[in-house]
Amino acid sequence: MQKPKISIIGLGYVGLCTAVAFSSRGFSIVAVDVDKKKVDMINNGKAYFYEPQIDDFLKKSLKDNLLYCTLNQIQKAVLNSEITFIAVGTPSKKNGSIDLKYIKQVTKQIAKALKNKKTYHLIVVKSTVTPQTTNTIIKNILEKYSNKRCGVDFGLCMNPEFLRQGSAIKDTMNPDRIILGADDQKSANMLENLYKQFYRKNTPPIIKTTTPTAELCKYASNSFLATKISYINTIANICQKIPNTNIGIVAKAMGFDNRISPKFLRAGIGYGGSCFPKDIKALIIHSKKLNYKSQLLESVDKININQPLKAIELLQTQIKDLKQKQIAILGLSFKPNTDDMREAPSIIIINDLLEKGAKITVYDPKATTNAKKIFVDKIQYAKSPIECIKNKDACIIVTEWSEIKKLKTQDFKKNMKTPIIIDGRRILDFQEFKKETTYITIGQS
Ligand code: NAD
Repeated sequence: MQKPKISIIGLGYVGLCTAVAFSSRGFSIVAVDVDKKKVDMINNGKAYFYEPQIDDFLKKSLKDNLLYCTLNQIQKAVLNSEITFIAVGTPSKKNGSIDLKYIKQVTKQIAKALKNKKTYHLIVVKSTVTPQTTNTIIKNILEKYSNKRCGVDFGLCMNPEFLRQGSAIKDTMNPDRIILGADDQKSANMLENLYKQFYRKNTPPIIKTTTPTAELCKYASNSFLATKISYINTIANICQKIPNTNIGIVAKAMGFDNRISPKFLRAGIGYGGSCFPKDIKALIIHSKKLNYKSQLLESVDKININQPLKAIELLQTQIKDLKQKQIAILGLSFKPNTDDMREAPSIIIINDLLEKGAKITVYDPKATTNAKKIFVDKIQYAKSPIECIKNKDACIIVTEWSEIKKLKTQDFKKNMKTPIIIDGRRILDFQEFKKETTYITIGQS
């Protein structure tokens, strides 16, 4: 079967990973973004963000002449392909609802191209959008500006993305499942065939459903994972108050119950990133619009907003007045193996410490460039974990990078003014560190 030509609009984490994944298996991709710097970098074989494996995939796609990135040329991209994926951002508005301005802009451009297209074209929404966005807003724009009928002259699917930053390529090549939302059979079959062509024998379970169900699958999954994190953090905060308790053991014991599973039961200073905080807020607001107040989701969100500050609460059990105190922050990105600082707990921690008059030095293996855009010269940037902790009054571990996990008691004892360590991710050996340093971790006393 011939491989259809694909266009991808928006070259962020989702768009670029989708583009290089398809081209790695022989699909011809034309990709579009509005940011010249990003497009130039990509065409030179370098992703503008850090993600394991992506540059190798990208270089191969360019070498094989299967990926071509253009600036703003959406209409041309649609005319030169049979399937278009929309992967632009859907950020939060101030009130927590999602901002659809980028998706509306690109949909209008796609529709204008459809008007001039003689053949059937499938549009696939990969961006995360709240239920009924695809079959109302997006469909209406497509029909209005193309003068064509959805389900007859062109197809429309909602296909939410589940990749995780830090393992985005691996996840794209081996997803747990594919959710395929379509309100007509032809669209659903066309996208199903594309994925079968791509994954062949390794095609994961494909769940075919309506577009609003597909949209809700994404929000329900992310909100559930966020709920697990806020839940275990709640138990950790209770542990903190009870001598001789250990959240690590509690979580392990819970995880052996296969109704619960051990995943997403790591207590710490909360979740961040561009998805969980945004998606849970969007679902809360969306439910309210539907006249349903989700007390559960509101609590999950509130617990998470407060959780990073637990690190400072623990620090102040050792140093009450943080004015002029030298504090080291180890790890800045919202999780390891990414340089993404969006909604990172480090931002809440650093801002609170600055407000309390502390002097901050930070270290992150990949996220320093992005952190500089946020904190500019309000903080110091170290080039290694040791330089970061040198002569400091205390340090807070914020991100569980492997090189931070490798630090030994001696590194802290030899280099810090006072070896006070607040381990916000529970990555160091409790018994050993408790013996040798002032070691405090979330959920264990
Ligand atoms: P991102 O912000 O990293 O990238 C979006 C890209 O779209 C940017 O490069 C931007 O320049 C481009 N863009 C904006 N307007 C455009 C236009 N008019 N034409 C062409 N390009 C345009 O976003 P992301 O993290 O890749 O997320 C994209 C969507 O996927 C969001 O809805 C997000 O919620 C969802 N999602 C993200 C992840 C993740 O881990 N990042 C995972 C699953 C789903």
